[in-house]
Amino acid sequence: MDVKKVFKNNEAWIKEKLSKNPGYFEELGKGQNPELLFIGCSDSRVTAEELMGLGPGEVFVHRNIANMVISIDLNVMSVVNYAVNHLKVKDVVVCGHYECGGVKAAMQSEDLGILNPWLRNIRDVYRIHRKTLNAIPDESERYNRLVELNVQEQCVNLIKTAAVQKANRDRGLVVHGWVFDVHSGKLIDLNIDFDGYLKDIMEIYHLE
Ligand SMILES: [Zn+2]
Repeated sequence: MDVKKVFKNNEAWIKEKLSKNPGYFEELGKGQNPELLFIGCSDSRVTAEELMGLGPGEVFVHRNIANMVISIDLNVMSVVNYAVNHLKVKDVVVCGHYECGGVKAAMQSEDLGILNPWLRNIRDVYRIHRKTLNAIPDESERYNRLVELNVQEQCVNLIKTAAVQKANRDRGLVVHGWVFDVHSGKLIDLNIDFDGYLKDIMEIYHLE
C-alpha cells in the first residue's frame, strides 16, 4: 500500500460526504455527542465504526491489544472517565474478536518483552476460568472461548469502576460484551448478565 494513496482516498471521501450533505463538515465541527463507548482490539480487521455501520461523531472509540480494561492503565481509564462522566455515553461496549493475536500470544510461553505484563492480564483470565477452558479439547474452540471470557472479564473490570457504577445508578448506563467474528463479519452479543455482575461486584468493589 502506498501511503500517499491515503490522501487521495481522503479527497474522495470528502467529495462523497459533501455530495450527500453540503453542511456535513460544518456540523462535525460543532462538536460530538456520541452515545456509545466502544473498547475494541487494535487488530486491523476490527474496524469499530465500519463494522457497526456508524459514522464520525457517533461512537467514542478506544482500542488496544486484546481490548483490555486494566485499572492502572491511565489511557483506558481516562477514556472511560471522559466518555462516561463528560460525554455521558449511554452504553459501553467491550468488543473482542476471534483469531485475536493478543489472546493467542497469551497462551504461549514465549518471552515477548514489554508485552509480557500486558498479556499477563489475559493469562489471569485463563487462570480464573482454567477448569472451563481445559475441558475444551479442541484448541481453536478453546481460543474462541478464551476470547469470549476475556471480553466478559473486561466488562467486569468496567463494572468495578466508580464512573460506571455511578452512571448506572444515576442514569441507567449499561455495559455490553460483544465478539466480532472475523470469519463471517458477524457481531455477536454475548448477553453478559450486567445486573448479575453488578450485584456480585458491589459486595466487594462498591464505591460510594
Ligand atoms: Zn485482537
